[in-house]
Amino acid sequence: MRPLLSVVIPAYNEQEVIGESYRRLDKVCQELGKPYELIFVNDGSRDDTLKLLTGIARKDPRVKVVDFSRNFGHQAAVLAGLEQAGGQATVIIDCDLQDPPELIPEMLKLWEEGYEVVYGQRSERKGESKFKTFTAFAFYRILNWMTSVNIPKDTGDFRLIDEKVVRAMLSLKEKNPFLRGMVSWLGFRQTPIVFERAERFAGETKYPLKKMFKLAGDGIFSFSLMPLRIAYVLGCISLLGALVDLVVLIVRACQGLPLFSQVLYLVLFAAFGLVFLCLGILGQYIGRIYDEAKGRPVYLVRECIQYPEEAKEDEHEG
Ligand code: UDP
Ligand code: MG
Repeated sequence: MRPLLSVVIPAYNEQEVIGESYRRLDKVCQELGKPYELIFVNDGSRDDTLKLLTGIARKDPRVKVVDFSRNFGHQAAVLAGLEQAGGQATVIIDCDLQDPPELIPEMLKLWEEGYEVVYGQRSERKGESKFKTFTAFAFYRILNWMTSVNIPKDTGDFRLIDEKVVRAMLSLKEKNPFLRGMVSWLGFRQTPIVFERAERFAGETKYPLKKMFKLAGDGIFSFSLMPLRIAYVLGCISLLGALVDLVVLIVRACQGLPLFSQVLYLVLFAAFGLVFLCLGILGQYIGRIYDEAKGRPVYLVRECIQYPEEAKEDEHEG
């Protein structure tokens, strides 16, 4: 039977939480009394995540496991899950229980009222470092200032989306996907649902600084040309500065005054700094164009694991 609800859960080295995550999600979904499926995406975990997931799938035919050939990142994992989702509505949720599964019935209610995207908006972030809270706070505001797409503040990927939106998302085919930006860009009828972001159930964050930077870069450079404009303005200012400096130098030279080497250094450093900044910004875009031109897939799947009902019964008999 076609499920009403698909739940997509990316997992990377989550052996400590996967069992509890499945239990809580399954409980919430069962209480709905509607057909559902749980799609776990194993994003190249190096611990026992896959083993545990296979065990769960063996017992529950509603569980599907997509196993990546290596770690392709959270956003790729979510996309792979969406590709597999067959429900009329799909919920994307982290595996560490920071996003409460108990919010799903409320999300479904809003969906039934006609909203096509119901996104979780964090009112509070528990158990996260001041650094993370601050960088997230700043990032969402800078992103919004820079982009023409209105990406809701304090919103992660925890959301319910209608199948129409899933189809539209999959049609975008971006190589450096920034899903929350893409969903905003798509439009459709969207509404927030406010929740308190809980502490991670167990384990540590799988988003180290490097991955956070990558995600922030994808958000900014995939959705805004503002950095290019900033580079342009900076270039103009530095040229103007150089011009003024030239005039001053000529005047001082005519008057026979000593030319301060410090001033020279300052100008030199400022000019180099600006040039490299602009090159870096250009590089970000060229890199993205390069990625698109190569046309490589965003992720590779080793296998999809799902045990049909019969297999489960056979096993019991045997
Ligand atoms: N994740 C993933 N691939 C990665 C990093 C993270 O699939 O390369 C998953 C992770 O298992 C979790 C979700 O993405 O389900 C969010 O990661 P995490 O909770 O570590 O991020 P945080 O909440 O600390 O930002
Ligand atoms: Mg988390």
